[in-house]
Formats: sequence, structure tokens, C-alpha cells
Amino acid sequence: MVLRPDVVIKAIQKVRGRSKNTRVILMTPQGKPFSQAIARKLAQYDKLVFVSGRYEGFDERVRKFVDEEISIGDYVLMGGELPALVIAESVLRNVPGVLGKDESAVGESFSERMLEYPQYTKPETWAVSSKVKGQRSQVAKLRVPKVLLTGHHANIEAWRTAEALKRTQKRRPDLLKEES
Ligand code: SAM
Repeated sequence: MVLRPDVVIKAIQKVRGRSKNTRVILMTPQGKPFSQAIARKLAQYDKLVFVSGRYEGFDERVRKFVDEEISIGDYVLMGGELPALVIAESVLRNVPGVLGKDESAVGESFSERMLEYPQYTKPETWAVSSKVKGQRSQVAKLRVPKVLLTGHHANIEAWRTAEALKRTQKRRPDLLKEES
């Protein structure tokens, strides 16, 4: 089953209306992989229109009436509704005023093509015991890195940058390569 072009295109035209700063996005696993950079770009539009498919997807002619095609990953879902919600939430986090000051998107993973540095909170030291079968239980002390307790902002910043880089190199080296 394929969604008919006349029905879908009519709906797109109706919703797009006369508004100028609108972006119509086709949800498809064949689209450009969604990213933080795309979220930031989409946050600049007044209106986003998500066209979600079902079944086998859309008649090919629908593609001519959308501004871009986005995929949320290399897997196939049953419909475009969840991908649309994922994109909507990610875009909204980039709209000024949506996040409180404490929750700023600056410095988060992917904001600079890097993963975020490790985060810590209280307690400063936490003793946790682990019992391995047949052995006496062992107590490990898990501590917050010392530099974070110094209050020295420059050193903390340098530590965070170094940790973010280390983590990105290990987990997502692809992010450090030039953007194509
Ligand atoms: N036959 C299509 C193909 O192979 O490309 C897949 C159709 S899928 C079962 C039905 C709908 O779910 C798609 O039209 C699309 O709107 C949505 N969808 C599924 N996976 C998606 C993904 N990874 N990203 C975005 N939308 C997706």
C-alpha cells in the first residue's frame, strides 16, 4: 500500500498555505540522517510541517512538493509519527527560551561535533560494595575527579575539554572528521 500523491500533496499545500518561513519535511528512512546541526537549522523556521508515511511509504511524486527528506536512523519504523516527534523535540530545545538557563544546549553532545564531558554530582565519594560469587565482597570508592572540587574555573574548563575530546575519540571518532 502506497500513499496517494493527490491526497498527500493537497494536504501539504493546504498546511503550507501562504506562510513564507515554513519548512516541509518528508519523514523517510531514505532521507538525510538527522543531526544536531539540522535541528539548529530547523529551529530558525516559523513553521515546520512533518509529512509522515505509513505502509510502503509515499508515491514518488510527493517528493517534488517537500523541502527536504529526513531519516532518524538506519532502521525502518512503521510510521513517520515517532520520527516527527523526535525531530520536533530536538528542534524545540534549540529555540531560544525553551530551555532554562541551567539546561542550556551549549556544550552538550554534538553541539561542537564532540560528545559532552563526563558529568558528576554529589556525593563527593561513594563507597559501593560488590559481591562476586565465591569471593568476599569488595568495597570500591567512587570519587568525583579532584579538579572538579577545586573551584578553579580555568582548570575545570581545560579538564572538561580534554575529557570530551578523549571520549569522542574513543566512542565517536567519526565526529572529529571534517564535515562533508
Ligand atoms: N518502504 C519504505 C522504504 O523502504 O524506504 C519504508 C516505509 S516505512 C514502513 C513507513 C513510513 O515510516 C515511512 O514512509 C516514513 O514516513 C516512516 N519511517 C520509517 N522509518 C523511518 C526512519 N528511519 N526515519 C524517518 N521516517 C521513517
